[in-house]
Amino acid sequence: MRYVSTRGRAPVLNFEQAMMTGLARDGGLYLPETIPTLTPDQIAALAGLPYEEVALRVLTPFVGDSFTQDELKGAIARAYAGFDHVSRAPLIELAPGHHLLELFHGPTLAFKDFAMQLIGQLFQLALARSGDRVTILGATSGDTGSAAIEAFRGLTNVDVFIMYPHGRVSDVQRRQMSTPADANVHALAVDGTFDDCQARLKDLFNDHDFRDGVGLAGVNSINWARVMAQIVYYFTAAVSLGAPGRVIDFTVPTGNFGDILAGYFAKAMGLPIGQLVIATNQNDILHRALTTGEYRTGTARPSISPSMDIQVSSNFERALWLAYGRDGAAISALMDELKSGGFPISQGALEQLREIYVSGRASEEETTAMIATIRAETGQVICPHTAVAVKVAREHLRPGVPMISLSTAHPAKFPDAVEGAVGIRPPLPPHMADLFERDERITRVANDAESIKSLILARRTA
Ligand SMILES: *Cc1c(COP(=O)(O)O)cnc(C)c1O
Repeated sequence: MRYVSTRGRAPVLNFEQAMMTGLARDGGLYLPETIPTLTPDQIAALAGLPYEEVALRVLTPFVGDSFTQDELKGAIARAYAGFDHVSRAPLIELAPGHHLLELFHGPTLAFKDFAMQLIGQLFQLALARSGDRVTILGATSGDTGSAAIEAFRGLTNVDVFIMYPHGRVSDVQRRQMSTPADANVHALAVDGTFDDCQARLKDLFNDHDFRDGVGLAGVNSINWARVMAQIVYYFTAAVSLGAPGRVIDFTVPTGNFGDILAGYFAKAMGLPIGQLVIATNQNDILHRALTTGEYRTGTARPSISPSMDIQVSSNFERALWLAYGRDGAAISALMDELKSGGFPISQGALEQLREIYVSGRASEEETTAMIATIRAETGQVICPHTAVAVKVAREHLRPGVPMISLSTAHPAKFPDAVEGAVGIRPPLPPHMADLFERDERITRVANDAESIKSLILARRTA
């Protein structure tokens, strides 16, 4: 499989190269040149298989000959062995016709583990082969950082630097990043928002001397391998409810557009997904873009679903590239316009996007109310991101079509929001029970590329 950049001026790469690179050298994002498909028979045959086997079948065409079948199989097995549920992504019924896909059974209690654990394994294979050392740099709104640290901690040929917005992540999220004692783990508290962290990340990647000097690698959801790994659970979930013999709707709580883009790829591969519903919190750039046709940034306002407090949705560039007929020059021009605030989406592209996606938003009050409603109706305690999805999903239910809402984090990651809604603090699972007794290590840094660069040069061990 060959990978091309959304801005059309970066080298065409294979899967391994695209994964190790992260951001394309022209500032764009890599996408597979063609989308592989599965026949209805092949999809039907996935029913009842272990998660790992479905992953192998779904991911093989994207990986191509970058890894052998045995290597890929081993990487998948090791990636999910540490999950605390044998189904990996269990589906539970919330109400007749409405299901929750629990994606928080990995080591850091959010869906980011699905992709990050696999990337960790694939990086190790690639680095063992090449003998290279890399500096992983990530920006996080909370959950990507801990998932990346968990996937790469302790490896001798990797340093992992994670930038997060100072004061804007939950205590559990921060402690998951600041308490690992491994010398190759570096948590950086940036004086800014998540969008600032993401912008600095792009600055450093676009500084090619620095990038090559430290062997910069990116594992944010701009990394294609992240999106790819998330395609799998759309298949396992839909097939368990009767796909391909039946259409299934999905609602996805969205920030950086990574998870829902994976849903689009599942659909493009042949999975009969009906509605693909974007659910945003009060930071609703995506909902506004689809309803008004203007992709325009605002100021990210801190919310009780902080992992979605985003105003520049990185992976939306990939959806735009597909909607603009894979026109790299057009996407480059639009991304330049975005720097000065935004742009109108062309009529043709907007129509295409509206054919694929519908959208809705949940305010803070609506999110809190939905946590309480679900607790009252089912006894189940859900995290605020999940509550955003459930609220929007309930506005899009269709008779006879199962709806699956993605439950992206364990409620114990956001105890304050949950307590505010239902008056109980969900306990952390046993492997994390002592999180608040562990020592923290954090470096505070200015929202400035040069400062971050010096820090990386001074601290890296690899
Ligand atoms: C990252 C995250 C999201 C948003 O996912 P995107 O891929 O950025 O759209 C939603 N919920 C939780 C808990 C997350 O960690």
